[in-house]
Amino acid sequence: MDGRETTKTSSSKKPNIGTSSIDVYAAQCAECKKWRVIHSEEEFEEIRSKISTQPFYCNKKSGVTCDDVADIEYNATRTWVIDKPDLPKTPEGFKRHLVVRKDYSKLDAYYITPKGKRLRSQNQVAAFLKENPMFEGISASDFDFAAPKVMEDTVPEIFGKKGSDSSRKKIKKKKNEDQSAVITGKEDVE
Ligand SMILES: [Zn+2]
Repeated sequence: MDGRETTKTSSSKKPNIGTSSIDVYAAQCAECKKWRVIHSEEEFEEIRSKISTQPFYCNKKSGVTCDDVADIEYNATRTWVIDKPDLPKTPEGFKRHLVVRKDYSKLDAYYITPKGKRLRSQNQVAAFLKENPMFEGISASDFDFAAPKVMEDTVPEIFGKKGSDSSRKKIKKKKNEDQSAVITGKEDVE
């Protein structure tokens, strides 16, 4: 059940920047086009890392076939962002964080090192790897700062229309708990 109840996680304060905005991962079946929830980030990254050569199908989830109803529907009850296909898997111990900007205009991608340091660019990654030879198996190309594309038709209405003055009044988040899903694969979502 992904009910539409608003269960406030109480965050009237500043969001802490250390948290990824993504709360659900999903992949689209190349056959039936249904969306399947991917339960772990690792699994999601695995799928994403080779999606263009190994398309995702429903039956990659155990016990699931294309005849089963979709796990999640593409619609504006949550904000969808589509990750770039074939991004490298995040090296072990590191975390890839995606943080959506307040106005939903875009996301920022960065990596957290095993010790909690934040890396915001390819240069910072290169410098970090140089200073930390214990990560010698890891190369800068294992990191990619390409942020997913925000699907405009799913952002909260108040942000959706660009250039409309009325939209910048009181900014109230519609629903706190489900602001984004990261989706891998095609961008041709209808
Ligand atoms: Zn399918």
